[in-house]
Amino acid sequence: MDYISTRGQDGPLGFEQTLLSGLARDGGLYLPVEWPTFSPDEIADMRDLSYAQLAGRVMAPFCNGEIDEFELAAMAGAAYAGFDHPAVAPLVQLDDTTYILELFHGPTIAFKDYAMQFLARAFDRALSKKRQHAVILGATSGDTGSAALEAFQKRGAVDVFILFPEGRVSPVQQRQMTSVIADGAHAVAIKGDFDDCQALVKALFNDLEFRDEVNLSAVNSINWARLMPQIVYYFSSALALGAPDRKVVFSVPTGNFGNVFAGYAAVQMGLPIERLIVASNQNDILPRFFEAGRMARETVVPSLSPSMDIQVSSNFERLLFELLERDGAKTKLVMDEFATSGQFTLDVKAMTRAQSLFSAYRLNDSGTVAEIASTAKNSGMLLDPHSAVGLSAARRARADGTIASDVPIVSLACAHPAKFETAVKLATGSAATLPPHMADLMTRPEQMQTLAADVDAVKALVRAQKRSE
Ligand SMILES: *Cc1c(COP(=O)(O)O)cnc(C)c1O
Repeated sequence: MDYISTRGQDGPLGFEQTLLSGLARDGGLYLPVEWPTFSPDEIADMRDLSYAQLAGRVMAPFCNGEIDEFELAAMAGAAYAGFDHPAVAPLVQLDDTTYILELFHGPTIAFKDYAMQFLARAFDRALSKKRQHAVILGATSGDTGSAALEAFQKRGAVDVFILFPEGRVSPVQQRQMTSVIADGAHAVAIKGDFDDCQALVKALFNDLEFRDEVNLSAVNSINWARLMPQIVYYFSSALALGAPDRKVVFSVPTGNFGNVFAGYAAVQMGLPIERLIVASNQNDILPRFFEAGRMARETVVPSLSPSMDIQVSSNFERLLFELLERDGAKTKLVMDEFATSGQFTLDVKAMTRAQSLFSAYRLNDSGTVAEIASTAKNSGMLLDPHSAVGLSAARRARADGTIASDVPIVSLACAHPAKFETAVKLATGSAATLPPHMADLMTRPEQMQTLAADVDAVKALVRAQKRSE
């Protein structure tokens, strides 16, 4: 499977090149030339596979023969060996037709570990084959950064620089990044918000000279290979609930549109998903878009679910390309308009297509606290604020008739409740306890640097601190 850019000016590229490049050279995002598909019989045959074997089966068609199914399964086995649950991504039943998919069993207790632990191994494999060194640059609203620093630390071929908005990540998230003290690991606080961090990363990637000089790679969810391992848990949970013979719905707490786009990919591959629910906090650019067909940027308002405090969802461009019938020139026009005016509107045809699969709901902070409190009281389950936004959306989609009463809804639990103590304390009066492997986190030594939101300052830092080949 080769890859092309959503802006039509780059590719086709093989899998490893796509992996190492991250963002396409025309400013677009890579997608496979076409979606690989599985027949219902092929999906039924996946039922008895282990999680790692399933990962190999689902990801192999994307790897162009460059890595085969069995090596992929071995890489996934190694990536998930340290997770603290044997099922890797366990499904917990909440009521007759509602399930929670727990995606917080990795080392940094958020779902980013599922992709990042795999990605680090894929990078290592590709770079060492070519005897190359790379600089990984990422923007994080919290969880990507810790997962990346954790996964990529001590890998000789890679230096990681993670930009995060100063004072806008939770204390646990910050300590998870700053306590990774290892060669090649750099946590950088930026004086700005997450969109500023993301804009810096985009600017450096679009500076082709700098990009080649330091061999820049991206590991935030604009990297296609980040999305690939996330498709796997849509398959594992749908299979557990009766796929291919029974349809399911997923409710996905959404920021950069990466996780929910992995669900979209699963739909294209033939997994019977009836609907994808996009759940946002008060930064509701996506619900406004899915309701009215108009994307309009506003300023970010900090919330209790900071990993979703995003106005510009970088992965949305992938869906846009699909909604525009894979017309790269049109996608570029729309994205250029969005960059200059902060808004764009799609026509009825594209919106009909979007609304046939996606529904979107928003939840403010007081609703989030109420959802955590009522779920704790009624089910004894402690949710982190992002997961609460997702579950509330699932409940409302059921209540308003969007989802029939007998169709199972899987609501994604994207982080462990101990990672976001403010919301949990507000809801229940006490914080959740960290899992045993992280009990001493808040007393571990810290190491970080602080920079202005300035492209040249970030460039200078990378040049000065990256190790040479
Ligand atoms: C990253 C993250 C999200 C948002 O996921 P996207 O793929 O950016 O949409 C939601 N919740 C948590 C806990 C996260 O870490």
